[in-house]
Formats: sequence, structure tokens, C-alpha cells
Amino acid sequence: MRGVTQPFPDADLRPEDARALGFGAWDLDLATDEFYWSVTTRKLFGVPADQPLTYGSFLALLAPADRAPVEAAIGHSRHQGTGVDLSFKMSGGHWIRVLAGVVPDEAGEPRYLRGIALDIDQEKRLEEALRLREQHFRSILDTVPDAMIVIDGSGIIQFFSAAAERMFGYTEEEAVGLDVSELMPEPDRSRHAGYLVRYHASRERHIIGIGRIVTGRRRDGATFPMHLSIGEMQSGGKPYFTGFAHDLTEHQQTQARLRELQSELVHVSRLSAMGEMASALAHELNQPLAAISNYMKGSRRLLAGSSDPNTGKIESAMDRAAEQAIRAGQIIRRLRDFVSRGESEKRVESLSKLIEEAGALGLAGAREQNVQLRFQLNPDADLVLADRVQIQQVLVNLFRNALEAMAHSARRELAATNRRISDDLIEIAVSDTGTGFHDDVMPNLFKTFFTTKDTGMGVGLSISRSIIEAHGGRMWAENNEAGGATFRFTLPAAPTKVEHDG
Ligand code: ADP
Repeated sequence: MRGVTQPFPDADLRPEDARALGFGAWDLDLATDEFYWSVTTRKLFGVPADQPLTYGSFLALLAPADRAPVEAAIGHSRHQGTGVDLSFKMSGGHWIRVLAGVVPDEAGEPRYLRGIALDIDQEKRLEEALRLREQHFRSILDTVPDAMIVIDGSGIIQFFSAAAERMFGYTEEEAVGLDVSELMPEPDRSRHAGYLVRYHASRERHIIGIGRIVTGRRRDGATFPMHLSIGEMQSGGKPYFTGFAHDLTEHQQTQARLRELQSELVHVSRLSAMGEMASALAHELNQPLAAISNYMKGSRRLLAGSSDPNTGKIESAMDRAAEQAIRAGQIIRRLRDFVSRGESEKRVESLSKLIEEAGALGLAGAREQNVQLRFQLNPDADLVLADRVQIQQVLVNLFRNALEAMAHSARRELAATNRRISDDLIEIAVSDTGTGFHDDVMPNLFKTFFTTKDTGMGVGLSISRSIIEAHGGRMWAENNEAGGATFRFTLPAAPTKVEHDG
């Protein structure tokens, strides 16, 4: 038996200092497995002063998962004569760290494991909280749709988010350590290092804090437009730059698609405006032309009794004039037929898509005007047989009229709905909360050149109705409960596929 009262004869720390610091002393006799724990150590482990201690009862105090590693470390120390530095959890969850060196016996064999125990619970909990925060932070970054890339002052990638992996085609492992210029095409690629040097020297900002549209380069060499904004930060006295990149490919495709739709629509609008005018002209000119030809015939009859030597010539000139008047009428009718028969291409189209695209074209600026859009489309009445561009022209026209009618309304709501009214017809309704129609407007609404607007042409609704009728549908308007206008039109439903069994 050893004297256990003075285990640290040559200790640097006096027991009272150790106690004040929260260090407990301990000592394990490797030959007998006898333990000595100081008052503070016992307190740390929660073991009363009078409770006997054995190696086994010590292990039993630890969290089950930590027992085997602690035992293995002490076993290792027994055989190798090396010290231990162990952090472990008690079964109650409290963290303790023990540090010890091996003290040899007279023969130089490892005899005691002697050292200190200290409470590291707070540090461990902080560490855990930090780790949790870090995990939380990572998971947030992983869900941010924009790519986030952190580089150091010389352009070396330090952090590469999950969205960046998707956008550029590198894994984080591959990207970290690369020069960020790898993610750019020429000429930026070879100039980027220079940009950084210039920024460090001049602090002149070209992109930091501003954000710009630049070109990115994916791993396979493909380039794409992206919006890049960069922030600067200092960490540990060193500069870091954080870039947020947003892939604009889709945005630009959408823009291009919109431009395409718009030009198609302008083209068709012009064509149908022409047709509409031609038809109105044909209608208006028909009467004067018929009158001309009647007058000609009358004059010819009057001439019949004349003895003028030129009678023959005058008669034939009058015949030709009458022919030309008839021809003029035919030309106009033919023009009208040509335009109205136009390139109408009826296909199976999705109403929700037609309405969505027409909304993008006709409702630009609607949100700025505080107009609430309610497109409630029933998917069971979605497929129609229609000429896409022509129906979009109708919708754009209705949307624009609605916006204009609501310009001075307190309540601004625009709704589009659809419903199946029979097996082969679908009705679309566009409602607004504008002025509605006065009694004198209603009967003229669909007439060519009827307008109540200073700069209106008055052809929109008459063209729309012609288009709908050419589709085999009907179009009409009514005042609605909100005091605004509701336009309704019908279109042929696309035939649904017949199910075959086998
Ligand atoms: P324009 O818009 O050039 O006047 P339209 O044929 O599109 O030609 O419309 C004819 C007229 O119908 C308009 O001038 C307006 O008086 C009336 N109108 C059309 N849409 C609406 C609406 N949503 N609410 C009230 N009045 C409307």
C-alpha cells in the first residue's frame, strides 16, 4: 500500500491552487488498480468522499459509449508507458477531461498514472452549439438557390455551396483550393488575378457591393450568363470575398421567348387589323361602288338615244368604268378573305399556358399599378383546339382593356377563369373591377372603329370576336357584380383521347 495522502510530492501546483482552478488530482496504481481521487476530483465525478473507488466503479460512471475508448486508452498507457489525454462524457452527460503522465517504479517500470481532471462541460457545450450552428448555417447555404463561393485575397476558393456545385459542375472538394478564375471564360480568366491586385492597391470597386451580369464557365467549358454580387469581409485580419451567383440562362430564355411571342403577336395584330379594316372598307365602299355602277348603267341608257358621233366610244368607256367599279369591290373582298383566312393554325393548346403567356405580354406593369391577378384555371377544362397566337392576341387585348378600365378604380382585380360548358366547348371569362359599360356602349362594343378612348382605334374587340368566331366560338360581354366588365368567349375543347384496352 502506498501513502495516499501525498500523491504529488513534487507538484508545481499547490493543492489549494489546483482546487481554485477547478483541477482535481487523481492517481491510479497500475499494479493494483487502486485509485486515489482528490476532493475536487470526487466532486467533479460526483462521488462522495467516503465511497470506495475501484477501476470498475470509475468506468461505470462514464457514458456507456465512452467506456470502451477510455479503457482502451488506459490499457495502451499501461503497456506503452505513455500518458493519457482523454475527454469523455459521464453517464449524466457532463464532460470531463483527464490528463495524466506515467510515473515509473524504482525498477523503471510504469507504475502510476498520475494527473489531473477538469471540468470541460462548458467548452464542450459551446463546441457542440457551434457545430450545430455551423451545421445549421451549412444547411441554410445548401438550400439557397444562388451559388455562394468564398475566395481568399488571392482568389483561391475556400467555400463552395451546394448550388455552386450544381451551377458549375464541380464538387466542393474539387473546387476548394482552385483559383476562382477557373469559373470564368477568357478574357476574365487570365485577368482576374490582376483585378484582385488592382483592388488591393486602389480599393476601387468595380463589382464589389454593386453586382453585375457576367459570364460564368461550367466545368465542361460551357458558358452562361449570371448575375454576380460580391461582398468583402475580414476574418483573422485577412480579406475574403463572398460571391453570390444567380444563373440567368432561364431568365434570358424566358425573355427571348417573350420577345418572340411579342413579335409574333405584333405581326398577327397588324395582319388582323388590316383584315378588319379591309372588311370594314369593303362594307363601306360597297355602297358607293354599287352606286357608281348604277349611275353608269343609267347614263348608258340615257346615251342610247343620242346622235353624238362619239356615242360608241363613250358607251364603251362607261362599260369599262362600271367593270372597274365592280372589280374594285372584288379586290377589297378578296383582300379581306385572304387576310381573314390567313395562316390560322389550330392545334391542341393548353389554356393555362396561353393565359400565362398572354399575361406576361399584356400585363407588364400590372403589379406596379397594384393590380391583383387571379388566374384560377381548372385543369379539367384546359385543352382547346386553337391558333395559339390568335387566341393570345384576344387575351392580350382583353387584359389591356381591363387594365385601362381599372386605371382609376380603387379596387383593381383582374381574374381569368375557365370552365367546360359542354363536351366540346370551353368557356373563358376575363373579369375586371373597372368602369363596366354604359348603356350606349354595350350595343356598339364589337363594332369596328368603335372606341370611347381618345387614342383608341376601336378595332381590338371586333378583331377578337372575328377570331373567336373563326374558331367556331362566341364572344360577348356583360357588366359584373363588382361594377366592372366581364368578357366571355368559347373555344372548341380538344378531343380527349379514347382509351383503348389493349
Ligand atoms: P379600343 O381599346 O382601341 O377603344 P376595343 O375594341 O378594344 O378598342 O374596345 C372598344 C371599347 O370598348 C373601348 O373604347 C371601351 O369603351 C370599351 N371597353 C373595352 N374593354 C372594356 C372594359 N374592360 N371595361 C370597360 N369598357 C371596355
